[in-house]
Amino acid sequence: MDEAYPAATCALHHDNPFQLLISTILSAQCTDERVNQVTATLFPKYPSPEAFAYANPSELEKEIRPTGFFRNKAKSVMGASKLIVEGFGGKVPQTMEELLTLPGVARKTANVVLGTAFGVASGVVVDTHVQRLSGRLDLSRQKDPKKIEQDLMQVIPQDRWILFSHQLIWHGRRVCQARKPRCAECTLESLCYSKDKII
Ligand code: SF4
Repeated sequence: MDEAYPAATCALHHDNPFQLLISTILSAQCTDERVNQVTATLFPKYPSPEAFAYANPSELEKEIRPTGFFRNKAKSVMGASKLIVEGFGGKVPQTMEELLTLPGVARKTANVVLGTAFGVASGVVVDTHVQRLSGRLDLSRQKDPKKIEQDLMQVIPQDRWILFSHQLIWHGRRVCQARKPRCAECTLESLCYSKDKII
């Protein structure tokens, strides 16, 4: 993985931890490219947690509509921003426990923010790619993301958690794709005995 993806990192555009948090909330069930298109105009218009916290909800819904599930996402974005302003002095908290108190934030989002914005390895990001690849590479036999994360935390050294999740996500996007994995080009092919392998 290091040979294939030495510089794997988060594809969501952001200038600070708060923007990464908002982008990650918007990225649920949506591509990073689409989120980046939306945030390119969203972030200049809402430059602070206050701006999001006290936004006009229907206007915000319209603006984030292309990312899907826009009503729930608008609620999460505004709710999380409000708590950051009113409960955390305007700063994104840096612990898993605190992040999980923010509306719309579960472990996946918290791990993205902690790992990428703060360099804190509190867990492993388990998105759809990590979920699929953990099964194919026999790193976990669980289906539930929380249980998969626990398995990965057992087998991957903690100082690799942040990079490893990015590498797995990149591998899932570029090579080990859901429907047609490109096994002939895969650097992990000799280690993989997944039933999904096409070779
Ligand atoms: S060999 Fe195929 S199924 Fe296995 S990890 Fe590589 S791309 Fe995925």
